[in-house]
Amino acid sequence: MEQATAQLHTPRSVRLERIVDETPSIRSFWFSDVSMHKAHPGQFAMVWVPGVDEVPMSVLAIHGKNEAGVVIKKGGPVSTALWEKKPGDLFWVRGPYGHPYSIGHHHKLLVVGGGTGLVPLLSLLVHFRGRDVTLITGARTASELLFKDWLIADSKEHQFKLIFATDDGSYGEKNQVPKVLRPRNGNSLPHPSKPRKSVQVRRGNLRGLRNRTLPCLP
Ligand SMILES: Cc1cc2nc3c(=O)[nH]c(=O)nc-3n(C[C@H](O)[C@H](O)[C@H](O)COP(=O)(O)OP(=O)(O)OC[C@H]3O[C@@H](n4cnc5c(N)ncnc54)[C@H](O)[C@@H]3O)c2cc1C
Repeated sequence: MEQATAQLHTPRSVRLERIVDETPSIRSFWFSDVSMHKAHPGQFAMVWVPGVDEVPMSVLAIHGKNEAGVVIKKGGPVSTALWEKKPGDLFWVRGPYGHPYSIGHHHKLLVVGGGTGLVPLLSLLVHFRGRDVTLITGARTASELLFKDWLIADSKEHQFKLIFATDDGSYGEKNQVPKVLRPRNGNSLPHPSKPRKSVQVRRGNLRGLRNRTLPCLP
């Protein structure tokens, strides 16, 4: 195996530099790792907790910044063990893995992702600067909306359309994110079942392969 490939697949210890409470159940963990800094939108890291397990986590890396992040929702054993880490603790990572999003040259784009499903789409937004982008994101309730303030500021600065949805209606539209796509009163948002030009997004996944499609407005 070539040295660079071997390095990619060998767990590397990284020290956590900062940890941010993003919502009551989601924390972001930031560290420095040259390979992860270069992760492309849609790629993920394998994050290992010795003695527990290893899970895939989307990598949040904005090119030009010397840090990378993973954004973790507390759930089962691995995510809970990771969630309880403190600044200065070690993380073990491999990768990045997976095919990056293929974004093509479409000008009008609809980007949809709720909860931590938003994470791989954030660095994608940076690649979409100057395009006509609508982002739909949501959560169960207002306090669980991920990166809400950042998205509001970024949407104003870079002029993309931003639609929030919450299941309980406590912020934005009262709806589940996929249902916001349903056409209402001549609304021009496409229904996902209608065939459209689309960007096929495939992401590698050790716990089952997920295919995702970002529909593009015509
Ligand atoms: C490509 C890819 C990227 C991913 N990126 C991210 C990411 O950026 N952030 C992230 O948080 N996760 C991400 N995941 C999911 C992550 O890999 C784990 O599946 C998740 O953290 C749960 O792992 P666990 O071992 O803690 O729980 P598991 O062992 O998977 O689950 C144990 C039990 O806990 C339950 N459970 C697990 N999580 C939750 C939850 N959140 N709420 C309620 N019950 C739960 C399960 O239903 C199960 O019953 C990604 C997965 C893939 C495939």
